[in-house]
Amino acid sequence: MSENKKPTLSMEELVSYAKRRGFVFQASEIYGGIAGFYDFGPYGVELKNNLKRAWWESMVYANPNIVGLDSAIIQNPKVWEASGHTERFSDPMIDCKACKKRYRADKMADIDSTDAAELIAALKGVTCPNCGKEDWTEPREFNLLMETSLGAVEGDKAAAYLRGETCQGIYTNFANVVDTARRKLPFGIAQIGKAFRNEITPGDFLFRQREFEQMELQMFVLPSQAGEVYADWKERRMAWHQRYFTKTKLRFREHGANERAHYAKEAWDIEYDYPFGFKEVEGIHNRGDWDLSRHSKYSGKDLTYFDEATGEHVTPWVVETSVGADRLFMEALLDAYDEEEVNGEKRVVMRFHKDLAPIKVAILPLSKKPELSGLAQKVYASLGGKYSLEYDETQSIGRRYRRQDEIGTPYCVTVDFDSLEDKAVTVRDRDTMVQERITIAELPDYLKEKLS
Ligand code: ATP
Repeated sequence: MSENKKPTLSMEELVSYAKRRGFVFQASEIYGGIAGFYDFGPYGVELKNNLKRAWWESMVYANPNIVGLDSAIIQNPKVWEASGHTERFSDPMIDCKACKKRYRADKMADIDSTDAAELIAALKGVTCPNCGKEDWTEPREFNLLMETSLGAVEGDKAAAYLRGETCQGIYTNFANVVDTARRKLPFGIAQIGKAFRNEITPGDFLFRQREFEQMELQMFVLPSQAGEVYADWKERRMAWHQRYFTKTKLRFREHGANERAHYAKEAWDIEYDYPFGFKEVEGIHNRGDWDLSRHSKYSGKDLTYFDEATGEHVTPWVVETSVGADRLFMEALLDAYDEEEVNGEKRVVMRFHKDLAPIKVAILPLSKKPELSGLAQKVYASLGGKYSLEYDETQSIGRRYRRQDEIGTPYCVTVDFDSLEDKAVTVRDRDTMVQERITIAELPDYLKEKLS
């Protein structure tokens, strides 16, 4: 089936599939849930880990000039003053005066601007989706940083923030990494971690949550290197998405002047074609010297770099690539979904790239008879510990194949009565449904090669 003809899931179908197949559950579901938070189930955690691993390998392992970091979620509150977040990390909000519902003004106006006058002008003729009236308040700014407090004694607690983005921990460790990892510019620090934002209107499933995960690379460069490094990473990040996902569902979008952070020299998004249209999954930004110069100013520490070539101290510029693991997770589910007709019946198959598939191999004894279970468990043990496996002996073999297709397992290994005699098993390929007989002794190497 050609890529373009693949059926697309609606949002409702996506959410329902993700729950039914154990990928994503609403957080605290038994208590009615909590808006903007989700839990990842048994297959979801595998898929998410695989996405994170694929990113980490392509960043940290594939590039000699990139190192990893895992910084704390809570930092000294001064970090957020220096970064500008306490002052201006906000979204413009409007309330419907008639029904009191609150919305993000830029989204309602459908413009990429936070300028109040432009928003008011664009909101002419826009009615409240809830009550149908057109009676808006002026746009007002709401800070997105999530507050918490430190200390056990009531009345003696210090305010702090959960990080609104992971990159600040990278900037504050710039000098530590230069000193200990002995890297020359241009070099990068990569990090994967949770970020928190008090999104006023969380929604679109994992797309806009209050707790989410970011995977960020910050390249530190000499100002003269920034243009080249930016162009390079812009292409490399798109190529990474295209390696795993459908090309025609991905595109670049340049930020408009009003949308760009005031310090940003250049900003492009990589967008994916979600059920609600092309939207940002990743941002690629040339941030100039804003980050290190601000942290230097607020901390009083020297965060310059000694350029041996010129004998001068310079404040490095930052080129950033920032992708949301959760938006990527949605991209992976939507992109993998496929349906086809096989012998007059609909087959749903998740065509995950083998590196991303949550379960790599399913071991399926043809029946629950002890002699078959015993052998199948031995087969499991011979593969166990190397990658994610599933053992399933319930229901008919046809239904079990369909179940594995629906979670995108690349290979099913069936142990049947002949296996007791010929010491071989049947390996079924998810995409072609072709079956091959492989000896149990050769199976570990056979699968290793197929999955590598
Ligand atoms: P948006 O304009 O959609 O609010 P943003 O431009 O604020 O996003 P960045 O601050 O550039 O996003 O964050 C980098 C990445 O983090 C985004 O490309 C996105 O994938 C992810 N991200 C940001 N906010 C959220 C959120 N509330 N829920 C899930 N992922 C998010």
